Amino acid sequence: MDVNFGGFVPISTVDWRGKAVCTVFLRGCPVRCTYCHNASILSGKDYRPVEEIIGMIRSSRLLISGVVFSGGEPTMQADALIVLAGSVKKMGLLVGVQTNGVYPDALEALIGKNLVDRIALDIKARWQRYDNLLKVPCVSNVQRSLEICRTARKSGRLPEFEVVITLFRGYEDEVAYISRECSDVDLVIQQGVQGDIPPLSCSEIKKIADQLNRTVRIRTREGGEISYEGSRDRWIASER
Ligand code: SF4
Repeated sequence: MDVNFGGFVPISTVDWRGKAVCTVFLRGCPVRCTYCHNASILSGKDYRPVEEIIGMIRSSRLLISGVVFSGGEPTMQADALIVLAGSVKKMGLLVGVQTNGVYPDALEALIGKNLVDRIALDIKARWQRYDNLLKVPCVSNVQRSLEICRTARKSGRLPEFEVVITLFRGYEDEVAYISRECSDVDLVIQQGVQGDIPPLSCSEIKKIADQLNRTVRIRTREGGEISYEGSRDRWIASER
């Protein structure tokens, strides 16, 4: 079996909180976010045998406790992802997946086969704006992905699950809506950086989070990642 390969980071301390991992990027994504930081791997072909990717992971094995599959959209290559995740589990390593949620069947299969330990699901806007913003009809798929992961997290079949909002100036109103939709799920607000638009600062994001009456994690370039509980915040990591 071949994989449309996007890239490999042998060791990363920023892709899974508190863990050293390697990160495998799978090429291709049906969405075209204007802010995508991995635009060079959204399309194109670089097919490699899965064994080659497994060899890359094996070369990092002694330094890491897990593997994060990112992209592009890793679940777009569901069959290859399942094979890769199975090999990673056989090595005794944890499996994380970063996803836009467009392929819920792939997430369901990974969870059903006990091949994933952590899913980070992007939710990009309120549901009513979703398809128009992403230029592809995918809102029902993302809603289904959210339900699959939420249910699996509650039942203990998915040890870690978080919803990630990448927040840009001008879209602050989306946060409260998404937070309500995900009130029972860990929520991360990540500073969006795009072109000349000044990114929201950590203190600006904290003010937005103050309206939510819940603990969130905030990720910014200047502040790393913090757990924020309204008036009191706790420093978790210094780099991201
Ligand atoms: S969904 Fe993710 S990988 Fe795809 S275009 Fe958007 S940011 Fe990039």
